Amino acid sequence: MSTGTPSVFSKIIAREIPATVVAEDDRVIAFEDIAPKAPVHVLVVPKTEQYRNVTELAAGDPDLLSHVVATAQRIADERAGGQYRLVFNTGEAAGQTVFHVHAHVLAGELQEGTLA
Ligand code: IMP
Repeated sequence: MSTGTPSVFSKIIAREIPATVVAEDDRVIAFEDIAPKAPVHVLVVPKTEQYRNVTELAAGDPDLLSHVVATAQRIADERAGGQYRLVFNTGEAAGQTVFHVHAHVLAGELQEGTLA
């Protein structure tokens, strides 16, 4: 469940803060990570703030999760020949800092010592 406070990603969706948007439709938005860890580092974010992490999304709306993955694949096809990593950090100890579910699309060499 959402915390009730708009996440930084909801502010991007509402155009309250700027982002470099690379794909968008009625269900998801994708934009460049502000601190890229690889040559391609895009975040794919469901527009709903209802799900904090991928486990909640998978349980609550598997079709939306599938759409996140398809969007990630399309971005990777366009920018990295379809070869990429898809990372969902889940929980603070795993490095999650924004509790509005998002997929990291990473391609090219990762910065040393980073997962995403
Ligand atoms: P997490 O650590 O898996 O929760 O990923 C959050 C990601 O959001 C990090 O890679 C941040 O660099 C990224 N991020 C935080 N604020 C912004 C922003 O305003 N624009 C784009 N990316 C952001």
